[in-house]
Amino acid sequence: MLKIIIDQNLCCGSARCIDICPEKAISLVDGKAVLDESKCDFDGICIPACPKGAIDYEDEYKDVGCGF
Ligand code: SF4
Repeated sequence: MLKIIIDQNLCCGSARCIDICPEKAISLVDGKAVLDESKCDFDGICIPACPKGAIDYEDEYKDVGCGF
């Protein structure tokens, strides 16, 4: 199963991923983006939206999404 990973160490709390996610699957907790996997459809729209590159597919699933 696809999995989106948000690197908490890279997240700057810009909330751009929150604004762009059509499923409203990401929220800010203590200034860091947190994913609700029960809402995520793993389309990968949030990946290019992050200015810090903090969001990506889990390593084994990289390069499978369209990114848009
Ligand atoms: S992969 Fe898609 S649905 Fe999941 S958090 Fe990112 S934008 Fe939202």
